[in-house]
Amino acid sequence: MKSSHLLFALLSLSTLSAFAQEKSLNLYSARHYQTDEALYANFTRQTGIMINRIEAKEDELLERIRNEGANSPADIFLTVDAARLAKADELGLFAPVKSKVLEERIPANLRSPNWFAFSTRARVIVANKELVKTEDVQNYEDLAKPALKGKVCSRSGSHPYNISLMASLISHIGEAKAEEWARGVVANFARTPKGGDTDQIRAVAAGECGVAISNSYYLARLLRSSKPADKKVMANVVIVWPNQKGVGTHINVSGGGMLKTAPHKDSAVKFLEYLASDDAQRYFADGNNEWPAVASVKIMNPALDTMGRFKSDSLDVATLAKNAAAAQRTYDRAGWK
Ligand code: FE
Repeated sequence: MKSSHLLFALLSLSTLSAFAQEKSLNLYSARHYQTDEALYANFTRQTGIMINRIEAKEDELLERIRNEGANSPADIFLTVDAARLAKADELGLFAPVKSKVLEERIPANLRSPNWFAFSTRARVIVANKELVKTEDVQNYEDLAKPALKGKVCSRSGSHPYNISLMASLISHIGEAKAEEWARGVVANFARTPKGGDTDQIRAVAAGECGVAISNSYYLARLLRSSKPADKKVMANVVIVWPNQKGVGTHINVSGGGMLKTAPHKDSAVKFLEYLASDDAQRYFADGNNEWPAVASVKIMNPALDTMGRFKSDSLDVATLAKNAAAAQRTYDRAGWK
């Protein structure tokens, strides 16, 4: 081969590999739903960008990105809950993304300069109607009333879902009143906090407690289940949308952002914009029985339809994020372990 030909061949090779690199995206995701396969395949079909995906638990992924530091191959971090997104942001992991598409599609209360929510879930009250009157548990505030002594079950106060709920209460009623509320709830505990939201739902159904708080998608999952045990659980509980006469039910999000060290920034922004598209919104939200962040997107989910419509708190997720540290301190002071 003549030297000029060799040079040409080498150049083509390096251009090719640069192209191959640009045409890929490294995704660190705490999501693991069957519909996600279609969600990602659709993106590759539309853009030609291959997705390399690493799935693990939320906190593990965050730890991994921190340990990889400047050499992290991660372009995008997807996770659940504003408190976790806030943690990643506080650690300086996200890069700001300016995108007209995202600004137009994602409502302002569901995004921050560095990350975006792509679906919403509600934190609802679940009650056993044999043990409590549903009219007595219409608001989060009601769970602190002495009448519910020995009837409230909860997961840990350190869990992001409860941190974000507390963050919203702090925003609405102030830290002192929020702490008083937490003390009242702790005084009403039927047992020491343990387990996840589904465990609380099961405990309510079994009559071990009269009332608990859960994210909406756990209830939707049980509603869609064909297992007789799950059907029995749902037959024994009532779902209450809290604070309908006030600020509305606390909602949280699942979302993500581009990492500061992202090797493929163009692909990363394209991917975030894709997640806000109609098709992607449907896959993204429905995969976990959530609601699309883009309000105009319609979904068909029988469980969510059964649960009905509700008024949601319009507090912005950035405020939830900002109050997360104060929320943890408030639970600590109130003894909500
Ligand atoms: Fe969850």
